[in-house]
Amino acid sequence: MNLKYTSDGLIPAIIQDGITKNVLMLGYMNEASFKITQDSKRVTFYSRSKQRLWTKGEESGNFLHVLDIKLDCDNDTLLIQVKPEGPTCHTGSDTCWNESNTSNFGFLSQLEQKIDERRTNADPNNSYVASLFAKGINKLAQKVGEEAVEVVIEAKDDNHALFLNESADLLFHYLMLLQAKGFKLEDIERVLKNREK
Ligand code: AMP
Ligand code: ZN
Ligand code: ZN
Ligand code: ZN
Repeated sequence: MNLKYTSDGLIPAIIQDGITKNVLMLGYMNEASFKITQDSKRVTFYSRSKQRLWTKGEESGNFLHVLDIKLDCDNDTLLIQVKPEGPTCHTGSDTCWNESNTSNFGFLSQLEQKIDERRTNADPNNSYVASLFAKGINKLAQKVGEEAVEVVIEAKDDNHALFLNESADLLFHYLMLLQAKGFKLEDIERVLKNREK
C-alpha cells in the first residue's frame, strides 16, 4: 500500500465496524503505528495529544481487531474495518458520536419502522398493515404460513418474477409477525450469530 502522509507524517484512519458498518472513531496514524496495526492486527494510532504511539485499548482492554484495511481513491485516507472488543469511546459509548453500535439492515430496518408506525397509529380501515395486526397473532402467523407455501410453489417453477414476489410477500408478513411477537430482525441475527460460536 502506497500511503500518502501529510507533511507532519500522519494519515487519518476512519475506524468502521466490519459487520454493522457503523463508524466507530477517527484517529491518525504515522508510518510506525500503521505497521504495528498491520502486524499485530490491533488498531494503533499516533496520538497527537499524547505524542506517542497509542494502541487503542491499551488501558481499557477495548482493542479494535483489524478485519480489513482499505486505502481511498487518492491514497490519503485509511478505512479500517474492525471487530471492537468493547465500547470504542472513552466515554463508554460504542462510538465517538454517542451512538450504539447496533445492526442496521438498511431498507429492511426502515420497513420495520414503517410497519411499527402503521401498527401503532394507522386506522385498520385504511391500512393493510394495521388491519392484519388488528386480527391478532394467530391470523398473522397463518398468513405467514400461506406466503411460505406460495414461495414453495414458485420455487418449483422457473418464473423468477413470481418467486421473488412471493419471497417479498413472505418477508414482509414475517416482519409483521416478528413485530407482533415483540421482536426485531436483530433478535434473529443474535440467535444466528450465537450458532457460529
Ligand atoms: P484505551 O486506549 O481504550 O485504553 O484508552 C486510553 C485513553 O485513550 C483514554 O483514557 C482516553 O484518554 C483515550 N481514548 C480512548 N478511546 C478514545 C477515543 N475513542 N477517542 C479519543 N480518545 C480516546
Ligand atoms: Zn482521499
Ligand atoms: Zn470518543
Ligand atoms: Zn403471496
